[in-house]
Amino acid sequence: MAGKIIAFLKKLKIWRSLKMRLFIIIFLTGMIPSIFMRVGILENYESRAIDVRTLDVQTQLRIIANHLITYSYLQDTSSEVINAELDQISNLYNGRILIINESLKVVKDTYGISEGKTVISEEVIRCMKGTNSVNHDSVNGFIEITIPIVETISPSNNGEDKQESMDIIRGVMLTSVSTDTIVTTMDILNRKAHIVEIIMVICIFAIALVLAQILIRPFDRIFKAINEVKEGYTNDPISVPDYLETEHIVDAFNSLFERMKALDDSRQEFVANVSHELKTPITSVKVLADSLLAQKDVPAELYREFMVDIAAEIEREDKIINDLLALVKLDKSVAQLNISVIDINNLAEIILKRLRPIARKNNVEVTLISKREILAEVDEVKITLILTNLVENAIKYNREQGTVEVTLDADHQFFTIQVEDTGIGIPEDALGQIYERFYRVDKSHSREIGGTGLGLAITRNAVLLHRGSIKAKSVLGEGTVFTVKIPLTRSLV
Ligand code: ADP
Repeated sequence: MAGKIIAFLKKLKIWRSLKMRLFIIIFLTGMIPSIFMRVGILENYESRAIDVRTLDVQTQLRIIANHLITYSYLQDTSSEVINAELDQISNLYNGRILIINESLKVVKDTYGISEGKTVISEEVIRCMKGTNSVNHDSVNGFIEITIPIVETISPSNNGEDKQESMDIIRGVMLTSVSTDTIVTTMDILNRKAHIVEIIMVICIFAIALVLAQILIRPFDRIFKAINEVKEGYTNDPISVPDYLETEHIVDAFNSLFERMKALDDSRQEFVANVSHELKTPITSVKVLADSLLAQKDVPAELYREFMVDIAAEIEREDKIINDLLALVKLDKSVAQLNISVIDINNLAEIILKRLRPIARKNNVEVTLISKREILAEVDEVKITLILTNLVENAIKYNREQGTVEVTLDADHQFFTIQVEDTGIGIPEDALGQIYERFYRVDKSHSREIGGTGLGLAITRNAVLLHRGSIKAKSVLGEGTVFTVKIPLTRSLV
């Protein structure tokens, strides 16, 4: 049942509110001590009042007990003085006094009910033996006190030997005093305390409500600021430094927002670049076609020449589109990797065989150095892309009679592909940008030799999908070395 109630409360939205929780904590922190204080003070007052009353009565009774001996009241109860004293004290404390003699017989009862009766109460017998007792009966509202009636017998002073005086218990005073006045005072105090408590509940309730509202305000501000960013009213970073926690939340939001802005910027830049790159060949085609159409009786050779150029532009457009498609595919998730165990040496040999005719055309010599057998869990198509792009670049950006050296090596965790050329090199400040989409060190040269500016972006994405790394070192005019490092197995990823 309790579990069900807790489950129901958990489902209630209000309980998940920080404001509500703060309110409850502040309210309880204010209320619990005040309740304990009230109960503690009242209980303390009661026990203190009972103690004081008991002490008062005991002192008075002791005095009367002495008088009882002086007036031999146990033998003769007719003493006016004693009776007056007894009446006075029983009236004063709204109590009843029984005077019991040595044979446990009641010689005097201020209520006049039990005179002549024998009392065999434990307290009385114990008191006869010298042990006083005090009992507080809180249910019926009285205190029962026993006081011994002691006669001190002084020795008769005959001769030199001095004897000590002796106390003999001659009887017991059994007294019950009412605690009505204490109870009444307690009731009044309790009522007043309750009134104070109700006022406190109202005050603490209001304070808890205001405090919870104030404490939660920074979070409201964060919510408002995020909403403003969401609605597009502002792009400024949010600042709510009230608490360390709000600062952390806001910092996290700001850096996320910065990242999203950067992503958005790069997407916009990419779209602009794509449009530009796709437009260039189309414009060339249009210019070529228009100039043919503008002329009359164009000779067949000129037509042919222009058509060759138009075909080249269309081929270029096709290459850009294919590279873009490859890039889009690589931008998707890792799940797209088609992993199998591949003999990297064999794969490199096949790729280089395919690329050698292009190298020969450029008068570049391509060699493969396999330092050891490499079997790796990789996506064959993507590793082919990586190798092809790097070797193609090394051939394209090489010099006449240049060389390209592809070195394959591995340790127990990674295999490395190193592609070293003796080409034009890459300037130091461009090394950080060569992986950006459409970036080319020398745009016109790259375009001339059929570059799209997407090859290294594709390569880098393929490497990252394998959780590998790619690094480039270059000396301008001397050559470039690309080093790709990829884990041998997927378990290392
Ligand atoms: P592209 O299709 O233009 O070759 P890439 O993304 O493959 O595009 O390369 C980006 C740029 O990096 C190239 O335009 C070129 O300027 C430079 N680059 C790449 N590889 C080499 C290399 N081996 N030697 C010199 N420059 C290179």
